[in-house]
Amino acid sequence: MILLSVIREADVVVVGAGNAAMCAAFAARDAGASVIVLERAPEAECGGNSAFTGGATRFAFRNVDEVREVLDLTEDEVAITDFGTYTEEEFLEDMGRCTQYRCDPDLTEIFVRESRATLAWMKSKGVRFDPMWARQSQKIDGRIRFYAGLICATWGAGQGLVESLHKIAKKNAIPVLYETAATGLIREDGAVRGVVAETNGEPIRIGARAVVLACGGFESNAEMRARYLGPNWDLAKVRGTRFNMGDGIRMALDAGAMPFGHWSGAHAVGWDMNAPPFGEREIGDLFQKHSYPYGIMVNANGERFVDEGADFRNFTYAKYGVEVLKQPGMFAWQIFDSKVNHLLRHEYQIKKITKAEAPTLEGLVEKLEGVNTARCLETIAQYNKAVRQDVPFNPVVLDGRGTAGLAVPKSNWANVLDTPPFHAYAVTCGITFTFGGVRVSPGAAVQSVAGRDIPGLYAAGEMVGGLFYFNYPSGTGLVSGAVFGRIAGTQAGKHAREHAKRSGVSEERR
Ligand SMILES: Cc1cc2nc3c(=O)[nH]c(=O)nc-3n(C[C@H](O)[C@H](O)[C@H](O)COP(=O)(O)OP(=O)(O)OC[C@H]3O[C@@H](n4cnc5c(N)ncnc54)[C@H](O)[C@@H]3O)c2cc1C
Repeated sequence: MILLSVIREADVVVVGAGNAAMCAAFAARDAGASVIVLERAPEAECGGNSAFTGGATRFAFRNVDEVREVLDLTEDEVAITDFGTYTEEEFLEDMGRCTQYRCDPDLTEIFVRESRATLAWMKSKGVRFDPMWARQSQKIDGRIRFYAGLICATWGAGQGLVESLHKIAKKNAIPVLYETAATGLIREDGAVRGVVAETNGEPIRIGARAVVLACGGFESNAEMRARYLGPNWDLAKVRGTRFNMGDGIRMALDAGAMPFGHWSGAHAVGWDMNAPPFGEREIGDLFQKHSYPYGIMVNANGERFVDEGADFRNFTYAKYGVEVLKQPGMFAWQIFDSKVNHLLRHEYQIKKITKAEAPTLEGLVEKLEGVNTARCLETIAQYNKAVRQDVPFNPVVLDGRGTAGLAVPKSNWANVLDTPPFHAYAVTCGITFTFGGVRVSPGAAVQSVAGRDIPGLYAAGEMVGGLFYFNYPSGTGLVSGAVFGRIAGTQAGKHAREHAKRSGVSEERR
């Protein structure tokens, strides 16, 4: 038996210090529990993938009053803006459509129906949300119109979110132990009673009445990516943290948890070809290149391989990284002309970018490294001929301005590539997070293979399986993590109190 060097205790131990974990910690504290948070990363790199996000956060709303439960808006902003509506039914339908109707109906319904209330709760704790003017709206006929149901992001994007969450933790005296990685669960009589962790190479034991695992998926782990996602996934760039090694999933499975969800699936996007192997915090999500609906994408053979305008980018970007991974050499070039410059997202303006530009299409295609030049020019010529110019272009609706007669169609926002200078951007596959995880109950309790709650064990965030399959509507990672984090923390806190009562520990002693 190993003699562990330090022993600490809390009612609830939360493993991870990203969005889901911190929401769990706050909720457990609200439920009257003492809480310790464990973070594998050093303080400067804390917050997991949550810190790398653009902070986009999807929630259901029926009118501007409901929008205002989350966003602080001036009367002037309300007057000039059309937020539209995004009902729970629309949110549920987007989840169903994106996941090929495989998402778990009960879990999905919970996070959709709790989305607005949970963001309002975060706001009440001190997290600020702002309208996504730059990324999700366009000025049309003098009014600002939002589209695709996504209107809001955390202030300061992911870094701002994580800073706020950690400030709130400090204010509430919730300790975060940095550089402390949970390595196993302590179990007594079938119940989870704490974790074994490693800090500075030393094993420690932290006793608890309940544990919330919120320590991400296995996206940072090349071996697990290859094992579960398949060939070449070990070569994908990781968009975010290097610390999500699948530890939480492994610990839960070791404790008898039921594997659940799309284990061979992941959220992955077109990501700068020359981006570093893991995310860079100063760049955040800006290595992504998400304006492809306004241009075309070609592979090494000089051929198009997806319908760039199949839907708003919010509903295609998370599955198109997989399509790029499948192309020869695992890369693609996105090609635009200057007509659409004003529509390109701000990630096309950063300095660290793999870009080619030329005054002619011939000159541009010559510069596309690794691409069959002759075939690419043919592809562009065929595409240009196929654009339906009788239909007006409108970027805030599915405008139906597609192509006619191409083997790989483009369904919306097709424009002839004819306005110099022409520009192109090289992307490869960047993995965001993995979809496979463990099964949780509606109360976020981790379920065993026998279908029962494992006493004292809860999970939230990326490691919850059953929400995403094949694809993902943008802005749902943070909100689903927040909803299940809050539920997990509340239930873990209650469980801890009940356990303390049963063990005869007085309130004062706790
Ligand atoms: C570049 C990028 C952009 C994104 N943009 C958005 C967006 O705009 N909107 C959106 O909704 N989603 C976005 N996402 C997805 C989003 O980041 C995730 O869905 C969400 O942040 C997951 O939260 P989480 O708390 O489950 O995991 P994380 O935030 O990754 O937190 C996991 C935590 O666990 C810690 N950890 C791991 N192993 C251990 C261990 N053994 N012991 C202790 N701690 C451990 C990690 O260090 C980290 O603190 C984006 C992701 C990336 C990478």
